[in-house]
Amino acid sequence: MAALILFGGGGDLAMRMLLPSLYFLDHDGLLPDDLKIIGAARSAESAEAYIAKVHETVKAKAEADEAWDEASWARMKARLDYLAVDATDPESLKGLKAKAGDGETTSFLAVSPSLYGRIVTAMKAAGLAEKNCRIVLEKPVGRDLESFLEIDDAVAQAFDERQVFRIDHYLGKETVQNLIALRFGNTIFEPLWNNLTVDHVQITVGETVGVGDRWPYYDEYGALRDMLQNHMLQLLCLVAMEPPSDLDPDSVRNEKVKVLRSLRPITPEEAERVTVRGQYVAGAVEGQPARAYRDERGQPSDTETFVAIRADIDNWRWAGVPFFMRTGKRLPEKRTEIVIQFKPVPHSIFGHGERGDIYDNRLVIELQPDEDISLSVMNKKPGLDQRMQLQPIKMSLSWGVNGKDAAPPRRRIAYERLLLDALKGDSTLFVRRDEAEQAWKWVDEVADAWSGAGFKPLDYGAGTWGPEAADLLLSRTGRKWNTRDE
Ligand code: NAP
Repeated sequence: MAALILFGGGGDLAMRMLLPSLYFLDHDGLLPDDLKIIGAARSAESAEAYIAKVHETVKAKAEADEAWDEASWARMKARLDYLAVDATDPESLKGLKAKAGDGETTSFLAVSPSLYGRIVTAMKAAGLAEKNCRIVLEKPVGRDLESFLEIDDAVAQAFDERQVFRIDHYLGKETVQNLIALRFGNTIFEPLWNNLTVDHVQITVGETVGVGDRWPYYDEYGALRDMLQNHMLQLLCLVAMEPPSDLDPDSVRNEKVKVLRSLRPITPEEAERVTVRGQYVAGAVEGQPARAYRDERGQPSDTETFVAIRADIDNWRWAGVPFFMRTGKRLPEKRTEIVIQFKPVPHSIFGHGERGDIYDNRLVIELQPDEDISLSVMNKKPGLDQRMQLQPIKMSLSWGVNGKDAAPPRRRIAYERLLLDALKGDSTLFVRRDEAEQAWKWVDEVADAWSGAGFKPLDYGAGTWGPEAADLLLSRTGRKWNTRDE
């Protein structure tokens, strides 16, 4: 028998993401037959009551995706169990160890990261960190390098690195993996993927939601630590890394670490030129009035809800190619995308001013709200105009173009891929300790530069793309952020 223990099995992450993901995996016949799933939290409830809650949440999600069937649920129900435990108490975990048995055991910590250190110590004492055990950690592990290392040292006391799976759920997204296929499964992109042809790269993670009642967590972290340290730097690594020799977990992660090590540190003198901090004030998002962050928080705060950064990668391939990243809450659109902006043609043969109507080629990798990859190229406007007219067209490179009539595959929850990989022990899509360490190091330097320069967040109206300074970050160098309508 194998076991998956969900610490925090009744919490928001488990109920909204993990348990529905497990249902979908089971539905598709992807879970090992002998896998038991054990919810573990402090609430004193019976296994029956827990299973009833799981049934409700999973059914609603599966019905919405037209993937509900009673047979799959019966299979999943037979796997489910629950035990009330205090995960920080070794005595309490002994009962859990008895339920999990001596087979392969994967423990997912869907609890507050402030408990990680004490939980792993208790797990070790209770026999849940044996050689055939694994641990999956949710972000954020720490809020800076020092606190990351403190937690991670406790983890390393109990588990070998090969047993540790640090989740960045962006890596579970189909399109993120497709980026690897696109770069290394084709010959046409890689020769262009460098400073000879690429002008710059943009990574945008826009959210329309505000912080709301999550402020006790958010106010400690801010956009830099909450989004940029993990998701955005992971995306940057996948765009910028050298081709790994294979898809072995360490081959891929070695290349990602090299990118993080090549990030140019941001000094206090540079901070004003290459970074923008913002905080939303009242405005309107998607037609609905939105309150200022400081009103949600109930008092003034220096936490940023928006960050834009120009990152430079000091290596042979990317010298001189800026990577612009921006993320924020209360922006006009929920949109996550990577834009590879190619250089302009050196000379236009079509007239119409210096470069004519030629737009620069652009590869857009969209992760949210839709997953799609498209390439903008110029072609001729049909017609008999005396002077040739050009127009930009978008070529979609996503799965849909191959079979117009084929039903799209169900859009998987990113956690499905990651849970499956963790259960199999494949850590390619998980963050290795030295990656997290390097990412924190760089982010700490940015945070220190901000405090060194006394750099406070600038106001931006809810429903705008951040402070004006974020546009200036690009326009100063003759560039601009990608918009939907181009
Ligand atoms: P949550 O809703 O507050 O759930 C926390 C769970 O932990 C509850 O089931 C709680 O149940 C249990 N718990 C607390 N102390 C415990 C203890 N000593 N022993 C055993 N169980 C304990 O939190 P969440 O939103 O699911 O977040 C969980 C983790 O995922 C956090 O690390 C968070 O940063 C991360 N995360 C969450 C999301 C999300 O969408 N929610 C997204 C990304 C990352 P009892 O009170 O019954 O013990």
